[in-house]
Amino acid sequence: MAITKRRTAELAKQVFEYAPAPESTDHIKIEPHYDLFIGGRMVAAHSKKRFPTINPATEEKLSEVVEADEIDVDKAVKAAGKAFDSWSRLAPSRRARYLFRISRLLQERARELAVVETMDGGKPIKESRDVDIPLSAAHFFYYAGWADKLEWAFPNRKPRPLGVAGQVIPWNFPLLMLAWKIAPALAAGNTVVLKPAETTPLSAMLFADICQQAELPPGVVNIVTGAGKTGSMVISHPGVKKVAFTGSTEVGKLIQRSLAGSGKRLTLELGGKAANIVFEDAPLDAAIEGIVNGIYFNQGHVCCAGSRLLVQESIAEPLLEKLKLRLGTLRLGDPLDKNTDIGAINSKAQLEKIEGMVESGVEEGAELFQPECKLPERGFWFPPTLFTNVSQSYRIAREEIFGPVLSVLTFRTPAEAVEKANNTPYGLSAGVWTDKGSRILWMAERMRAGVVWANTFNRFDPSSPFGGYKESGFGREGGLHGLLPYVELN
Ligand code: NAD
Ligand code: MN
Repeated sequence: MAITKRRTAELAKQVFEYAPAPESTDHIKIEPHYDLFIGGRMVAAHSKKRFPTINPATEEKLSEVVEADEIDVDKAVKAAGKAFDSWSRLAPSRRARYLFRISRLLQERARELAVVETMDGGKPIKESRDVDIPLSAAHFFYYAGWADKLEWAFPNRKPRPLGVAGQVIPWNFPLLMLAWKIAPALAAGNTVVLKPAETTPLSAMLFADICQQAELPPGVVNIVTGAGKTGSMVISHPGVKKVAFTGSTEVGKLIQRSLAGSGKRLTLELGGKAANIVFEDAPLDAAIEGIVNGIYFNQGHVCCAGSRLLVQESIAEPLLEKLKLRLGTLRLGDPLDKNTDIGAINSKAQLEKIEGMVESGVEEGAELFQPECKLPERGFWFPPTLFTNVSQSYRIAREEIFGPVLSVLTFRTPAEAVEKANNTPYGLSAGVWTDKGSRILWMAERMRAGVVWANTFNRFDPSSPFGGYKESGFGREGGLHGLLPYVELN
C-alpha cells in the first residue's frame, strides 16, 4: 500500500510535456457585426445600439451584435406569427425533412461551430467538438424523428402546436441550449423567437445561416440579440404563446411572476447544487474521473454540475488524496488547444462572482486546495478548486457557484447521504457511486433530483428527459417529455 501510494505520487509529479496543439481558426469567418435574423434573412435593426462580444480567453473583441429594441422584437414575433400559419399546417413529414436537414448541416459545419463556440465562450475545444456540437445535431436528429409521429407520441390526444414560442437561453452551452429549445418546438409545429445570451451570441448567428442554408421557410426561426431587457420583451410580447427559459433562478422567478395570469405556457430550467455521492464500495478511480467530470467540465459552468461531493467517511482520506493528485494533472489554458481540460471563465462578471464565493468559503472556515497552476496573463481564469472542512451551512455548500469549485462533505450512512443531498433549495441532478445496484435504486427513489446518474456523471442523450425540482425549475427537455410543453392536447 505504502509503495503504491509513493509511486502514484511520483508519477503524478512527472508532468507530461505537451506540445501546443491549437485548433486552426483559418477556416472561421466572423463578421465584424451582425444584424437580426427575422423572417428568414438578416435584417438591419431598428435599434441603433450594438454591443461587443469578446473572447474571454484573450479579451479580444470578436464581433458586435445588436441590442434589439421593442420594435425589433415585435417584428420578430410578427414574422414568427405569420410563419406559424403555414408551418403548423405543413405535412409533418415535410417538417421532419427540414429538421433532418438542419441536423446534417450542424454535422457538416461541426468544426466551424466548435471553434466559434470555443472562441466566443471560452470552453475547451475538446468539449465543444465532442459534446456541444454533436449533441446539438443529435437533438435535431432525434426530434426530426418525432415530427411525423406526434399522433403516436400522444395517442388519442390530438396534439396541436401552440403558436409562437419565446425562448431565452444562457451562455454556458450556447448552441446546445438553442437546440434543446428550437428542435422540439419546430417538430411540434410551433415557430420561435430566440434570444441568445449576451456573451455568446455567435453560434446562434451561425445557426441563422444554417436555417437559410436549409431553406427553412422564412419566419419559422427568428433570432434577436440583446441583454436581459430584450429577453423580457420577448417573453412579455402578447404574440408569444409559450415561454421557455434557461438561466438563473433569480430571473426565472421574475419571469414566472411577470407571466402569472397571462395564459402563456411556461417552462423554467434554472440553477442547481447537485450532490455527487461516493460510497465506500465505489470503484475509486472511476469515481475520481466522475467527480472531475462532474465539477470541472466546462469550468463548472454547468447547472447540473456535481458541486457538492458527499464522500462516505471511511474512504474520505484515500479519495481526497487521489483527487488532489488528479487535479494537479488538469491542464488549464488556451481553450483552442486540443489538450486543454480547463478553459476560460465565460466573463469578467462570472469570474468576480466565483472569486467572491471562494473568498466566503475561506472566511467561513473551509480549507482551500488548489493545485499549482499558472494562469495566463490575459483573459478570465480560475484554477480548479476544492474545499474540505465544509459545513452544510456555508455559502459554498448552499449557493450555486457556477465555477470550477468543489465543496466536499462527508457522511456515514446512506440515510445521512440522502438527508444531506436533499438539503438544498435546488433539485436538478445527483450522482451515486457504488458497487451495489440495490443501493443505487434505494438512493434514486429518495433523492429530489430530476436526473440521478449512477456510476457516471454529466451524461446526456436527446431521448432522455432533463429537468428539475424545486428552485431548479420545472419542465423537461429531451425525450417525449420535451415535446409536451410544445403541444396542446385534447
Ligand atoms: P441570467 O438568468 O441573468 O441570464 C440568462 C438569460 O436570460 C440571458 O440570455 C439573459 O440575457 C436573459 N435575461 C436576463 N434577465 C432577463 C429578464 N428579466 N427577462 C428575460 N430574460 C432575461 O443568468 P446569467 O447572468 O447569464 O448568469 C447568472 C447566474 O445564472 C449564473 O451564475 C448561474 O448561477 C445561473 N445560470 C444558470 C444556467 C443554467 O443552465 N441553469 C445557465 C447560466 C447561468
Ligand atoms: Mn463572447
